[in-house]
Amino acid sequence: MIKYIDEYRDKNLVLRIANEIRRISSRPFRFMEVCGGHTMAIQKFGIPSLLPENIQLLSGPGCPVCVTGRKFIDTAIAFARREDVIITTYGDLIRVPGSTSTLDAERGKGHDIRMVYSILDALEIANDNPDKKVIFLGIGFETTTPSSAAGVVNAINMGLDNFYLYSSHKVMPPAMTALINEGVKIDGYIAPGHVSTITGTSIYDDIPLKYNLGCVVSGFEPVDLMQTILMLTRQMENDDAKVEIQYKRAVVPEGNVKARKLVDEVFEACDDWWRGLGLLKDSGLQLRSAYSHLDAEKAIPVEVEKTREDTGCICGEILKGLKSPGDCKLFGKACTPNDPVGACMVSNEGACHAWFRYRGSA
Ligand code: SF4
Repeated sequence: MIKYIDEYRDKNLVLRIANEIRRISSRPFRFMEVCGGHTMAIQKFGIPSLLPENIQLLSGPGCPVCVTGRKFIDTAIAFARREDVIITTYGDLIRVPGSTSTLDAERGKGHDIRMVYSILDALEIANDNPDKKVIFLGIGFETTTPSSAAGVVNAINMGLDNFYLYSSHKVMPPAMTALINEGVKIDGYIAPGHVSTITGTSIYDDIPLKYNLGCVVSGFEPVDLMQTILMLTRQMENDDAKVEIQYKRAVVPEGNVKARKLVDEVFEACDDWWRGLGLLKDSGLQLRSAYSHLDAEKAIPVEVEKTREDTGCICGEILKGLKSPGDCKLFGKACTPNDPVGACMVSNEGACHAWFRYRGSA
C-alpha cells in the first residue's frame, strides 16, 4: 500500500507498470481523459512516452474554461460594459477570447472586472459596494459547483441584494455519453478524480452497461495514471468493462453526499452549450426558482453581440478527441499561452496549453 507522495512518483514502479501494460495489451486501445488536471499531469509526466504504440491517450472536454462557449464570454463582456456592474471571476476566464474582445481588454478600457480566488471574495466585494451589481462568473464541473451553491446561500444569509451569479456550471456525464453517441472511437475513460470526489461513481454506471466501455477513476500522479491505464487495459483484454476506482485515497463510491445535497437545493439541470459538442440536454446547471432573483441573466438586461468563431482554431475537434494540438496550424506560432487564439491555449488545464508547456512544440 502506497502512503507517501514520493512513492506515487517512483520511477521504478512506473516502469514496472509500463512493462505490465506492454505485456498484456494485445491490440490497439484508445483511452480518453475528461479532466483538465489529468490533461496537465499526463503531459507533465510524459505518460504517452511510457506506453506501447498500440495505446493512445486522448484529451476530452475536461477543462472548464475550454468548454465554455464564446456566447458566455460575450455576455460577461456585455455585463462588464454596464457602469453599475462589477464582474468577479477566476483568472483564466479573463483571457479567453470572446467574439470581438476579452474581459482583460475590457478591464484595460476601465470596466470593473476583478479576479477572485473564490465566490466568497465576490460576496465581500458585493458587501463593500452596495451601489453596484456584483456578478460572479460561475464555471466548472461538479467539483466547483458546491462552492457556488454555498456562495448563493451565503449571499442570501448575508442579506445581499446586489450579488448575482452568471452560471455556466456543467455536469460531466452528458458530455461523456455524447462523445460515444457521436461515434468518437474510445475504449475507456480515465474518469475525473476531482469530480468523482463529489459525485461518487454511480454517474458512470451507463458507460460499461450501455456502451461496454471501461471507466476507471484516476488520481493525478504518474503511478496513479499508469495504474489506471493498466486497469483499463485489463478490463478491455478480459472483456470485462466496469467502473473501478484507482484513486481510492480520495474517492468513495457514494461521493460527498452533503455537497451534492447543497447543489441539488440550489441548482437544477438545464440544457447547455459545450465547445465542440454543441447543445447537450441537461448538461448544465441553472439556479432553481427560489434563487432565480440572483440569476444575472434574468435580473440584469444586456444586449449581447452576435457570436463569431475564429477560423483556424480547432479547439472543438481537440475537445472531442478527434485531433491533437499538434494538428493545429496555429499551434506555437500564431497561438501561444502569451497570445492565445483559442480557449484551449488559455487555461493551464487546456490541451494546447499543456502541450506547449511540456512538449514545447507540435
Ligand atoms: S493551438 Fe490555439 S488556435 Fe489551435 S486549437 Fe489550440 S487554442 Fe485553438
